[in-house]
Amino acid sequence: MDIQPIFNKKNNQPVIIAGPCSAESEKQIMATAEALAKQNIDLFRAGIWKPRTRPGSFEGVGRVGLPWLKKVKEETGLKVTTEVAKKDHVFEALKHGIDVLWLGARTTVNPFSVQEVADALQGTDIPVMIKNPINPDLKLWIGAIERIYNAGITKVAVIHRGFSHHGDSDFRNIPRWQIPIELKRQFPNLEIICDNSHICGRRDTLAAVAQKAMDLDFDGLMTETHPDPDEAWSDAKQQITPETLKGLLGNLVIREADLQNESFKKTLAHFRSEIDEIDAELLNLLGKRMQIADQIGRYKKDNNISILQSSRWNEILEKQVVKGAEKGLSMGFMSSMLRAIHQESINTQAEVMKD
Ligand code: PEP
Ligand code: MN
Repeated sequence: MDIQPIFNKKNNQPVIIAGPCSAESEKQIMATAEALAKQNIDLFRAGIWKPRTRPGSFEGVGRVGLPWLKKVKEETGLKVTTEVAKKDHVFEALKHGIDVLWLGARTTVNPFSVQEVADALQGTDIPVMIKNPINPDLKLWIGAIERIYNAGITKVAVIHRGFSHHGDSDFRNIPRWQIPIELKRQFPNLEIICDNSHICGRRDTLAAVAQKAMDLDFDGLMTETHPDPDEAWSDAKQQITPETLKGLLGNLVIREADLQNESFKKTLAHFRSEIDEIDAELLNLLGKRMQIADQIGRYKKDNNISILQSSRWNEILEKQVVKGAEKGLSMGFMSSMLRAIHQESINTQAEVMKD
């Protein structure tokens, strides 16, 4: 594939895409766009059709919002982008002069939908950004890029918005940075935008994720902005005001393009992000393990059984030390780690017994 950049920024500055999760009213759209135009952002986003996980939430204003985006272009000079998931969305967006389209995570996941959009795009040359699928499947993401490219679209970029998960996480969608990094390795010309809003799902971590994306050499950011975030009709918890965005962008550290050093830093940042994700998973698992210890404690209490059963503890220790050795973990490390976990489990059960 001979993919061309959509943004082609030169001076090492990130591409900034901002705007509300959803278009709600002309007033809200214009207020956001006017504030963002002052910050020289590169592209104004607003969802017109909203794919929602469950029915009953706000599903977007629909085509009545498209003239508002046209007005943004006319009055602020900003280029505009919206999400398309069906052929009708593509036709309507093209009719209203939308500059760039994007495919959402729930569309990328479905080859039938991606192909429907690709077919509708035949004969146009509108740039398209493709979000990662909701599941961590790099091939599915690449498949969507290929379908759009094969329809004759040469200007393609991707948006990394993290991946769905089950269970606790600090992220709304876990970033799994190694997936976009591998995509970039396979397609070095592909611009990668980090959608920190949908990765974080909350405001207080947006800056850290944006910085991480910069450290990993992403090309830009997509951040949801709303004049009154708490009152937003969708994704209220993660949206920030244009003013807050200004502060966030002002604090970003953009590293110099000192090549040797830079590649060292990138590789290091890559390894560290993998370590951070593994640590987060370890913590979640340990938390879960302790919850079960708590349940066991209650069960033992109800049945009047003592906390410590030496035979069970010996069995765990012996078995896991052997398994650890198979994975290159020393006996000393395995036994002290297991002892610490076991002790915490005993403490948890002892608390329960006391109740
Ligand atoms: C959005 O950008 O508002 C959106 C619906 O995102 P995603 O497709 O990443 O869930
Ligand atoms: Mn959103």
